[in-house]
Amino acid sequence: MRELLYRNSIKRSSAMARKSAPGYTGLTMRALCIQPPFVQLNAPYPAIWYLDAWFRKEGLPSAAEDHSIAVTRALYGREGLRRVFAGARLALKGKKPPEGEAALRLRAYFEQEERYIALADGLLGYLSGGDPSFAYRLAVGAGLPLGMRAEAVLGEEGAIAAEDAPALATAILNDLTDFIGYALDEGFGAVRYAERLASGARDYGEVAKAAADSWVHNQFYRPLLKERYERLKDELDADLAAGGDGQALMCVTAPFPGCLAGALLAAEEAKAALGGRVTTLLGGGYVSTELRFLTAPELFDRFDYLCYDAGYAALASVLALLRTADRGEGRRGLTRVRYRDEGGAVIAAGFPADETSCPGFSAPASEEEAEREALATVHPDYAGADFSAYLRIVDSPNPMHRLWNDTPWLKYRLAYGCYWKRCAFCDTELDYIKRYLPCDLDALMAAADAASARTGLYGLHFTDEAMPIKLVRQFALRNRERSRPFSFWGNARFDRSWTEEACAMAAEGGLIAVSGGIEIATGKGLEIVDKGFNLSDLIRSLVHFKRAGILTHAYLIYGFPGQSDQDIADSAEMVRALLSEGLVDSAFWHKFVLTRHSRLYARWERGEVPALEPIVPPSRFAVNDLRFKGEEYYERWTAPLDAALAAWADRGELELPLATFLPKGLARPKLDARTILANAGIR
Ligand code: SF4
Repeated sequence: MRELLYRNSIKRSSAMARKSAPGYTGLTMRALCIQPPFVQLNAPYPAIWYLDAWFRKEGLPSAAEDHSIAVTRALYGREGLRRVFAGARLALKGKKPPEGEAALRLRAYFEQEERYIALADGLLGYLSGGDPSFAYRLAVGAGLPLGMRAEAVLGEEGAIAAEDAPALATAILNDLTDFIGYALDEGFGAVRYAERLASGARDYGEVAKAAADSWVHNQFYRPLLKERYERLKDELDADLAAGGDGQALMCVTAPFPGCLAGALLAAEEAKAALGGRVTTLLGGGYVSTELRFLTAPELFDRFDYLCYDAGYAALASVLALLRTADRGEGRRGLTRVRYRDEGGAVIAAGFPADETSCPGFSAPASEEEAEREALATVHPDYAGADFSAYLRIVDSPNPMHRLWNDTPWLKYRLAYGCYWKRCAFCDTELDYIKRYLPCDLDALMAAADAASARTGLYGLHFTDEAMPIKLVRQFALRNRERSRPFSFWGNARFDRSWTEEACAMAAEGGLIAVSGGIEIATGKGLEIVDKGFNLSDLIRSLVHFKRAGILTHAYLIYGFPGQSDQDIADSAEMVRALLSEGLVDSAFWHKFVLTRHSRLYARWERGEVPALEPIVPPSRFAVNDLRFKGEEYYERWTAPLDAALAAWADRGELELPLATFLPKGLARPKLDARTILANAGIR
């Protein structure tokens, strides 16, 4: 079966190659796809692996490298921690010492320095799944270095069961993260760096300075980059000697603001080491979302091009440009790209005609068509990814949270974009939501097959915005026929398509969990956010998931413009009922944030929501989250809702009514959850 799939996919790529030769045929430059620090620790973030697969399919030599996990392992390893403690001693000299509890905590770190260092490699090995016996060592508890988080896991008894060892190992790592953040690098977090600074940053200079000053990046990332680029130089020399271009295309991805500092360093060091032999590109979710209106030219000191959206059309157009002698004329073909011209102006080129960030340009149809094909057929086989480097992080007992963080998933998507693309709060104006393109399942399964054969992993995380039921069905049917089926999970919409039969067949075909937006769990709430299903639809789909044994996680919001206190209270009461009935396993609440690319903002721009008063600060760099008049009113709900959810979902105290957590004066629920459940056929 696997061979058949391979043969089919090979046939298809030959057919595609015959159809049209891309404008960069003959180019022999080497692609290097880099994930800079810091992203999730449990599995490779998929973007660079998709790009790498695309380059190889296009016939260019390519490598994907996850510098995030490499820096993480170097930092928390034995030698890394020696440098951390030595650096902290130096950094704290002359600084005003903390007082009280903080002073005791800080002293305890230094007193336990040797214990931390002695434990480091064993801890990393254990969290990578390499040494199961280490669990028993951790469970005993004696002689372990303990910070605030580790103490909390060990509790008063000072020992735990061996199955709780991953939580303790994670807590020790998190204690060290706190220490590094306090003593050496305040922007540091284990899965992000200076995120608050980069997100919505109006000034590039501030972000660039944070990157340049970062102790962690300077001590651990710069040396890694210097060493890597030395090797790349040798590879390029060898290419040149063999008659190739001797040039490199460096594609750095920044899926989140917390990767920007690392991305800047990666490009800076590349330019310093390779000069004109490297072309640097920056893409990823952060670029496509937050840098969509960028006019600051300074970023182009580091990056030659910013690539937007799925990236394939942009990359293909840059490759075609690099092949032309006349760069001025060649730029007419650029697609979804920003660059700085010779006069220093930032030019946005080749965006779709409906793109308001750069009116007047339009992508060439051929590039867009090629991209559609790539989105359907290119899937990573994770060749070159070392899954044994990733860490199983356990910072919550919640089963859905564990699914996210403690398992090394192979990440794929069933479709690009969202088939619904209407939710009012969602970034529906952006390509990755509004352009819905289903994947070619033959190609997807062939790639996943190759990846699992290489890694021994059979768990897939579909990173879709919302897995389409049609593709889930097709995938589940095929999966059932495999000699060793995959387990899979991903985002889903709790809509009518998830019938009892659909959920049962999906579960039989490998579906283990879904996460999805309930947002506001009232009839009115679902309507104002245009969720596309009503309360009865929601409850029924949750029942169907639960009957099939599928875990469910719900995203919730409050503070949507115009939402009443009563509606927030009623939504919380309904959430309590859903948790009580076991229809939702876990949930997360966040205060509504108005974003620049949301449907709500687009409607406001068209004059359809006159009551909304967004505050849009001028920015030459990033823009995404916006404030709006009156939003602070809803802050009064933050603490009570967080406390209620922690009690209900984490501690199982579902008998406690919402009123237990509300201060005087806040609305009490009036919604009759029992009747609603009964009407939906639950009781
Ligand atoms: S919130 Fe989810 S379901 Fe709604 S439009 Fe966005 S991606 Fe689609």
